[in-house]
Amino acid sequence: MKTEIVVALAGNPNAGKTTIFNELTGSRQHVGNYPGVTVECKEGFRRHAGADLRIVDLPGTYSLTAYSEEELVARNFLIDEKPDVVVDILDASNLERNLYLAVQLIELGVPLVLAFNMSDVARARGYEFDLPKLERFFGAVIVETTGNKGDGMTALLDAAVRVARSGPRADFRAPAVVYGKVIEEEIARIAPLVEKAGLFAGKYDPRWTAIKLLESDRELRKEVLSLEVIDQLEKSAVRIQKMLGEPPETAIAGDRYGFISGACQEAVRSTIEIRHTTSDQIDAVVTHPVFGIPIFLGLMYLVFHLTFTIGAPPMDWIEMFFGWLGGGIGAVWPEGRARLLQSLLVDGIIGGVGGVVVFLPNILLLFLAIAVLEYTGYMARAAFLMDNVMHKIGLHGKSFIPMLIGFGCTVPAILATRTLDNRRDRLTTMLVLPLISCGARLTIYALVIPAFFPQAWQAPMLWIIYVIGILLAVAGAKLLRRTIFKGESVPFVMELPPYRMPTLKAVLIYMWDLGWQYLKKAGTVILGISILLWALSSFPALPESEAARFRAARQEAASARMTGAERVDWIAGIDNEEAKAALLNSYAGRIGKGMEPALEPMGFDWRIGIALIGAFAAKEVFVAQMGIVHAVGEADEESESLREKLRQAYSPLVGFCVMVFCLIAAPCSATVAVTAREGGSWKWGLLQLGGLTSLGYVLTVIVYQVGRFLGIGAG
Ligand code: GDP
Ligand code: MG
Repeated sequence: MKTEIVVALAGNPNAGKTTIFNELTGSRQHVGNYPGVTVECKEGFRRHAGADLRIVDLPGTYSLTAYSEEELVARNFLIDEKPDVVVDILDASNLERNLYLAVQLIELGVPLVLAFNMSDVARARGYEFDLPKLERFFGAVIVETTGNKGDGMTALLDAAVRVARSGPRADFRAPAVVYGKVIEEEIARIAPLVEKAGLFAGKYDPRWTAIKLLESDRELRKEVLSLEVIDQLEKSAVRIQKMLGEPPETAIAGDRYGFISGACQEAVRSTIEIRHTTSDQIDAVVTHPVFGIPIFLGLMYLVFHLTFTIGAPPMDWIEMFFGWLGGGIGAVWPEGRARLLQSLLVDGIIGGVGGVVVFLPNILLLFLAIAVLEYTGYMARAAFLMDNVMHKIGLHGKSFIPMLIGFGCTVPAILATRTLDNRRDRLTTMLVLPLISCGARLTIYALVIPAFFPQAWQAPMLWIIYVIGILLAVAGAKLLRRTIFKGESVPFVMELPPYRMPTLKAVLIYMWDLGWQYLKKAGTVILGISILLWALSSFPALPESEAARFRAARQEAASARMTGAERVDWIAGIDNEEAKAALLNSYAGRIGKGMEPALEPMGFDWRIGIALIGAFAAKEVFVAQMGIVHAVGEADEESESLREKLRQAYSPLVGFCVMVFCLIAAPCSATVAVTAREGGSWKWGLLQLGGLTSLGYVLTVIVYQVGRFLGIGAG
């Protein structure tokens, strides 16, 4: 006897699939991608009734016609992997629409269990189901569940194991959905030809193939080479159009709904008639043509504001803690011994871990807010509102939220793309997100703009930089949708789920899941990159003769006759010169210098090159590195002495080019790591890194050269 039972979970989006999947598998799950496509797959395990269940969460779909990648993946999984049982999760409070997928599963002939989820809502709305009757109509065991309370899970597992082991009960004969006379006639013409041509023999049943071909299923159509079949399909389509006044796919869908509607009329009773639900009343306000968008923007602002203001103190604490830890180690470290190890520990490891953990308050808060918006049902309304605007860019309405978050920090913004169900939308959004100027890049602008531009120009300059980023993100998204992510955008089924009170458990799981994944996956990579950058800027150490020179200079300062304050200044100057010499001598310094020929067309020198290497670790490191290479010591974006150095060394045009380049090129290592992780492959991280860096380079060169030619800001 086969020991492992494969259970596939199918269902419409929002029917509660993820909730039930989590209930069933707990923490025993992992996320991957289906081979060859970018659709995510989740798998989990469970032991029940002496069987090992492997539970696969199929993408949420409304249908099994290969209209979107999700639908194709779901269908192929059912056909190729032949799961032992398919559990279709339905929203019982919206039964007719949800049964559409169930009917397609029945037509596919898979062993089926129907979970009537949201049964609490259905009951509250006054629905009464005649389950035995419905079971007979649909030829499947039906179990009532309430996913968010965990009700009905045991019964569901019992039913799944039973169906997997022994097939459907004998008195459940799979009902053939009977189409109207016209359609049935055409099916009867096509099916024998399909059989004769041996089309999809052993894979699909000829009747099913005939129906799908009539529905213009692209995946199947493209494999049909038999002229006889193609010819017949054309004739059939014409005849159906003529007889029924609609194309075959519409007619077929209509008949399926008719079948469902008939079954429901027989077996579902509604005890109360609710015309205007609370949901409708809220909708009238939040999706109002005039007030809708302001309400949405206001809510987003609130989320954003709360995330970054409530998040700020814990971020400071975390920074303080890691600073204290580093300082503490420095203080107790035996003087002059194993300095390198100390530096690795303090600057490399503690600095790196700190850099990862510091984002955590933002990420957790943001996801708490998003989880609430998503689970209450508001997100669907927001998507509906923004969909028109975003569609023009080639994106989904929901992409708007990650874009907004991107102004704060790109890392949580990329995680926020998880609310996008379509992978193409999701990847497009992820790849262009770094063009939305994040908070860390603001430190660069804050340093550079006042250094080069008079007061009156400062605000417009900042505005220009942000607008450049937004326009490029829009153009980038369009480009991606026309090239690598080509394809029809999936029709946006305008289904507004009812407003629900989110359960604390669901919200916390959502939040914790993301936080933990971020720490685990991005954390290791970011830490690795941080150590690598530490090594690059620490090795090789200054040659002994150089180091001795600085020691001698310090000794001289120590014994010179002067006031204490003068002495401190002098020694600090020497320290700054030594830090600069050490950085120049390091690999990072050498790479920066080596890059100079490549940087020259943008007007950059090797100093900027070195600072850019730092910026790859984290954008705000740029400012600190500039401070070191200009020997002003520890500098931040407010440092007047550093601004003075910049004014001496560069023209305003170069200053502007630095901002353009930092905006576009080389998203920080955390962004690349998270993109790779969320995209499911390093390919996406590298594409983002390479694409944006090339774009940034080319644009900056153009800006610099044109500016120089026209003599703008070159003085
Ligand atoms: P999915 O899109 O199918 O994965 O749906 P989710 O699992 O994300 O569920 C959507 C929302 O419905 C969440 O807010 C769940 O907490 C909620 N939910 C799931 N099952 C039930 C249920 O049986 N009753 C009620 N009232 N809410 C549910
Ligand atoms: Mg889900």
